[in-house]
Amino acid sequence: MQPYDDSNIFARILRGEIPVHQKVYEDDHVLAFHDILPKAPLHVLVIPKGKYATIYDFYKQASAEELLHFSRAVTRIIDQLDIQKKGYRIVTNCGRMGGQEVPHFHLHILSGRPLGSMVEPLETAPSF
Ligand code: 5GP
Repeated sequence: MQPYDDSNIFARILRGEIPVHQKVYEDDHVLAFHDILPKAPLHVLVIPKGKYATIYDFYKQASAEELLHFSRAVTRIIDQLDIQKKGYRIVTNCGRMGGQEVPHFHLHILSGRPLGSMVEPLETAPSF
């Protein structure tokens, strides 16, 4: 598991050191807000308030209650955004190969345009 870095930008948002950019949803354990550099007309980030660096850490360490609560909060956010009928994509990046920039577990909820294929085909993708 990855050691949690308290200085990451989402940790700072959770501590109130940086203002949250267009909050969408908040409860005791979950915060959702618009991405500052949206990749689609709708681009919302959903984070647990607990200190988990990646989805792996969240799945591995969170309690059953926390896991269920987070999942149900995602459904509430989807309802609130009114995208259930239109469709959407949920993505989480994990680690270097996954392209994760902020080391606090987050889901990206993307919608508002046809999102195309999920990743570039192998033949056009940059190699590491
Ligand atoms: P990752 O690449 O880690 O999966 O995604 C991090 C996301 O956080 C990026 O889409 C980036 O635009 C977004 N982001 C980075 N800093 C901030 C910020 O201060 N506020 C908001 N709302 N989004 C941020």
